[in-house]
Amino acid sequence: MTQGDTAVRKKLIALKDELAALSEISEDARAPVTLDQQSVGRLSRMDAMQMQAMAQAAERQRNHAIQKAEAAIHRLDEGEYGYCLECGEKIAATRLEIDPSAPLCIRCASGAETRG
Ligand SMILES: [Zn+2]
Repeated sequence: MTQGDTAVRKKLIALKDELAALSEISEDARAPVTLDQQSVGRLSRMDAMQMQAMAQAAERQRNHAIQKAEAAIHRLDEGEYGYCLECGEKIAATRLEIDPSAPLCIRCASGAETRG
């Protein structure tokens, strides 16, 4: 294992921990909306439901990001980290710096977006 791998692994684990912590903090916000809930305060039920929906969407994104980070750690273990899952080309270092869990090279990632 190279020095770079260790740094990336640390980064990915830190990212995962951060996401998991955020997920825990926001657990209350995702709880089912009930009437006469004291914590809701002056917010109307509609507002509360909207906030809950947003919290749930954020949670889905977090779970997805956690899975991505876990997959990237797995690829590190397999020695496949840094290579695009789709075309097998090396993913640009600058791209991995921004998103260490990126599974695709920029070309495949943008292609996937335009394909929908
Ligand atoms: Zn690719």
